[in-house]
Amino acid sequence: MAKRTLLKAINRSIILNVIKKHGPIARADIARLTKLSPATVTLQTAELIEDGLIYEKQEGDSRGGRPPILLALSTEAIYVLGVKLTESHATLALIDLQATIVAQRTFGLPSTHPIAVADLLTTETLSLLRAADIPRKHLVGCGVGMAGLIDSVNGICRMSPHTHWRDVPLAEYLEERLGCPVYLDNNVNTLTFLERLYGLGQHVDNFLVITIGLGIGMGIVCDGQVYRGASGSSGELGHTVIDPDGLPCSCGNRGCLETFVADPWLVYHARQAGLEVVTPEELTQLAQSGEPRAVDVFRRAGKVLGQSVANLINLFNPGMIIVSGEGVRAGDLLFDPMREAISRHAFSGLDKEVTLQIEPLLDESWARGAACLVLHKIFETSEFTQPTSIAE
Ligand SMILES: [Zn+2]
Repeated sequence: MAKRTLLKAINRSIILNVIKKHGPIARADIARLTKLSPATVTLQTAELIEDGLIYEKQEGDSRGGRPPILLALSTEAIYVLGVKLTESHATLALIDLQATIVAQRTFGLPSTHPIAVADLLTTETLSLLRAADIPRKHLVGCGVGMAGLIDSVNGICRMSPHTHWRDVPLAEYLEERLGCPVYLDNNVNTLTFLERLYGLGQHVDNFLVITIGLGIGMGIVCDGQVYRGASGSSGELGHTVIDPDGLPCSCGNRGCLETFVADPWLVYHARQAGLEVVTPEELTQLAQSGEPRAVDVFRRAGKVLGQSVANLINLFNPGMIIVSGEGVRAGDLLFDPMREAISRHAFSGLDKEVTLQIEPLLDESWARGAACLVLHKIFETSEFTQPTSIAE
């Protein structure tokens, strides 16, 4: 019986993913693409319609025949909430199954006390639903992304460097208040889910997402699944050691990658070189205007970053590396020396097999990514990876 349930869940997931990728699509075409029997497709799609995940769309037929009935992802019956949480503010986004934002808002947090944060997120969510005229029962889940060490299995923030939380069961607090499942994860992982489900990583089964900015983070996708490590703490790229005798990092160690590449450290190095800059934006402008000391700060950062990326290429043999985050503002000032270091240090031409994508980070990407914590539960069962025969 359990086996039948699993088989059904897998078939349902396969069909839903085909509709996501190819919809609007006829039932006959779903059967052809999935190699499932027409009877199975009919049964499963009826259930998906009943659950509000898909709907029947009448397409006009210019040849005058009976218009074919096509199936498409629902954009009205089901919504998920994505939350980007920082120490000073939160962004909420209501998102449909296509990962399109239908309503969003950003507000400040007067207190970082966990209960106060949970209460405020709830009040603002209910108000956002009302403003968007979406009944509360149509909200099927909530995903929250935040910085720090997150136990995503239990929805607990183990340690947040910014809010100074220790072992806060935020998912439980929000579930009690919102009345729907809540998932919590590191915000780099949420961005990785977004790339996997709707972004550059949709058709790449092994890729890395590196975020640069205030800190340095990494999301890992192996064989189509987001890899989290034994206790969910993988991807702490920013705290890999470059120089054991280097500068003291916020983590307590010395010479971490962050002390060479993260925004506050770029400013620090610039000031050490005698430049009167306060923000990374100012430093970037100076470098763009050709100030040699500012250019040199980015050159050294890019070189160290490139060495680290070459190590990652040697370790993971990824098909793609996506570099994103606020730090991409520096552009080729950072990435030219990075590329140079990659080709110097990557093993035996492995770098030639990697597509390097530099992607400016949109503000809304974090909240859309957080919503993907829920969306991926809808589209994927953990036992299932999409067979390549279905890929385009
Ligand atoms: Zn560190």
